[in-house]
Amino acid sequence: MRVINYSKKSVVYGVQRRQFLNYMAMVSAIPFPSAYLEGKVSTSPKFSAYPFSLGVASGDPEPDGVVIWTKLAPDPLGGGGLDPEPILVKWEVAKDEAFTNVVQKGSVFAGPQLGHSVHVELSGLDSQRWYFFRFHTGSEVSPVGRTRTAPALSEMPAKMKFAFTSCQHLETGYFNGYPHMQQEDLDLVIHLGDYIYEYAGIDKRVRKHIGKEIESLDEYRQRYAQYRMDEDLQETHRVFPWLVTWDDHEFDNNYANLVSEEDGISPEAFLARRMNAYQAYYEFMPLRKRSFPQGPDMKLYRQCRYGRLANFFVLDTRQYRTDQPNGDRQKPMTGKVFDPHATMLGREQENWLMSGMLKSDATWNILAQQVMMAALNRGDEKGERYSMDQWPGYEISRRRLLRFFHERKIDNPVVLTGDIHLNWVNDLQLDFRDPKSPLVGTEWVGTSMSSAGDGGNFIPEYERAAKQNDFVKWYNSNRGYVSCELTKDHWKSYFRATPYVTRKGAPVETKAVFIIEQGRPGAQLVSKA
Ligand code: FE
Ligand code: CA
Repeated sequence: MRVINYSKKSVVYGVQRRQFLNYMAMVSAIPFPSAYLEGKVSTSPKFSAYPFSLGVASGDPEPDGVVIWTKLAPDPLGGGGLDPEPILVKWEVAKDEAFTNVVQKGSVFAGPQLGHSVHVELSGLDSQRWYFFRFHTGSEVSPVGRTRTAPALSEMPAKMKFAFTSCQHLETGYFNGYPHMQQEDLDLVIHLGDYIYEYAGIDKRVRKHIGKEIESLDEYRQRYAQYRMDEDLQETHRVFPWLVTWDDHEFDNNYANLVSEEDGISPEAFLARRMNAYQAYYEFMPLRKRSFPQGPDMKLYRQCRYGRLANFFVLDTRQYRTDQPNGDRQKPMTGKVFDPHATMLGREQENWLMSGMLKSDATWNILAQQVMMAALNRGDEKGERYSMDQWPGYEISRRRLLRFFHERKIDNPVVLTGDIHLNWVNDLQLDFRDPKSPLVGTEWVGTSMSSAGDGGNFIPEYERAAKQNDFVKWYNSNRGYVSCELTKDHWKSYFRATPYVTRKGAPVETKAVFIIEQGRPGAQLVSKA
């Protein structure tokens, strides 16, 4: 074997190989090709078409590094278009876009087991700095990615900016928010899930999913490829590091742990499908090895810190939850809603979250998660109704967390939420039934990027809900994203809206700006369009 020895920070082939074998040993369910052991790898591959069709991405920033990502696919929608053999991919990282000042180089194998995806965990970089990266394979070069490391853990950065979004149904609209997001001066992009939708293609929509409802690994891969081929999405991955988590549609609508939305599906069949869904997610996202799927399980909850300013707790509210009480629709808050064993996070994740928050020295303690935490009564004169798929369906879990914020005096808890295709600004009260109950946190609910179509319409049910729930400060039905600016004294959220998604190229409008003052939970209106 040839030793590839680039520089001081070079990666020696033998070390890479050992790591690689460890890595592959983890993929127990997947047959192990002898080519890896015999060293039959493609070091000068020829491709039928450009292999970097899916672009590049980066994610999970830390003070000394990020993950850089690509996936070789000359035929992204037709199974990838590669022979089932490992392919050598070289990577390089520079301080400048022209790559005159290359600081690290190395090489890895893109293997067929992981759909020829590449996840390189960089370390040894400077904190809080922009870097550029690209990949080479054969004679082909990838687009140049741009990424940014986090500040040192001990530091209090003057400012941090990020945008968050979720819910990008390809069939119901274009991702018109992304081009505007690209123009912002962001450290990070957060995606809260529903990155894809699993449904079969339906005619007469803005765009059409390829094929039927996805179940096999190849079908999930093809669906992710179809989404990532969207130029606005791909470009946003190229220019910022992302912190991603999933919701339900990366697998199956409103699933809970092993329980499908539909009845009569065996846990075994459901787990097999979950394994496919999770693996494809890992393959397509810039995730670290700590999130590597283990059969049908995948640990996606994790922390991401921006010095002493912000501590992001990225949650997974799908994989470990108990089944929704009495189905996942809207119900009064009675009966099983108060089951003390019902859990949204599962015991392990909840313990991890609480101990992480207790140890946190950050000004802002942020939950990047999926479903609405505020107990929004959507009922009418016939009675109260709450969504059983959201935190109020797991009321004991919800109260335990809010009480924890309050009693343990967690600094500035802020909850980021996706899932429901509407913006909501909610004050989180210890007891929502008592108007005098203290505020313990703030919740920003992002709208969808494209799901549910143009939006901006008047929705009587939600008009009523906004009026009858005192903790609601604002709601909005436009598509778009939320841009957040954090300093040690305040948090400003800008609710960006695109007036339409059924045609490309929408302008952006800031529908509202809210602020949270450090040490004072609850959102205050700054301006409204
Ligand atoms: Fe959604
Ligand atoms: Ca959802």
